[in-house]
Amino acid sequence: MKIGILGLGLIGGSLGYDLRSLGHHVLGVSRRLSTCEKAIALGSVNEASVDISLLAAAEVVFICTPIGLIVPQFQQLIDHLPVSTVITDVGSVKAPIVKAIAPQWSNFIGGHPMAGLAESGIEAAQRDLFVGRPYVLTPDETTPKTAIAIVEEIVRSLGANLYYCPPDEHDRAVSLISHLPVMVSAALIATCMGETDTHVLQLAQNLASSGFRDTSRVGGGNPELGVMMAQYNRQALLSSLAQYRQNLAKLTNLIEQSDWAALEFQLQANGKARPKFVE
Ligand code: NAP
Repeated sequence: MKIGILGLGLIGGSLGYDLRSLGHHVLGVSRRLSTCEKAIALGSVNEASVDISLLAAAEVVFICTPIGLIVPQFQQLIDHLPVSTVITDVGSVKAPIVKAIAPQWSNFIGGHPMAGLAESGIEAAQRDLFVGRPYVLTPDETTPKTAIAIVEEIVRSLGANLYYCPPDEHDRAVSLISHLPVMVSAALIATCMGETDTHVLQLAQNLASSGFRDTSRVGGGNPELGVMMAQYNRQALLSSLAQYRQNLAKLTNLIEQSDWAALEFQLQANGKARPKFVE
């Protein structure tokens, strides 16, 4: 199958590697010529160009640009495509994208591979990035069954675990498990850096080990991605942050009251709940 990828970065480049090894002919379009050349040299795409019309020959196009560019790039793309082309995207937020694109392109299905790295760009692209990872598709009642089947087949062939849900439910769920942790982890790093005793700050930096590495990882990641999560999933993220503040206040209160039994009860409940998310 001829498959187009618009935006040859971490996700687009990684998709290219896997789609090529599955035998597809991959057409890549990116903003910079140097990225197109790298993508060809690395073997992520068969052909690449900064000219979006290269994608006219694709049967399916994955839009893999930064979130804020998905809708504007879609608007440019459709001037070059026959209506039969299936378009999907990989944006980390779904409701605003689906709301803008679905009414304009019947063969569109929103998607989100839950696979990421701290690095970005074509150099960070990896083979098998999606294997064993969740991949969410968000069709609505008007999405043609054939378009769903085509994208589903590709996603399954990547080795990803497929999920379907409505766009707004996707956005609320990822707000809890992806976007909230970025903000919580960012606040953790800022709190540590706010230590005014330079000796204590230096000692903390020297002593930081695996626990801090785990809890600070997402807060120290790609700032542009963090801002886009907040900007495009603002309402769901504000709601998650409000719930988080309530839980933090509850824990603070238990410590102020020296209510160690209640604190232990809460920590035990959390320990039992965690495997439901990560195992
Ligand atoms: P990325 O590594 O920065 O890649 C995005 C690429 O888009 C850039 O390399 C850039 O290529 C290209 N681009 C920028 N403007 C463009 C334009 N106007 N036309 C064509 N290409 C353009 O970002 P990413 O992490 O792959 O994220 C891409 C999408 O995947 C985002 O929508 C994000 O929400 C989603 N996503 C990310 C993750 C993650 O953890 N990273 C996970 C799941 C989904 P040039 O080098 O040519 O400028």
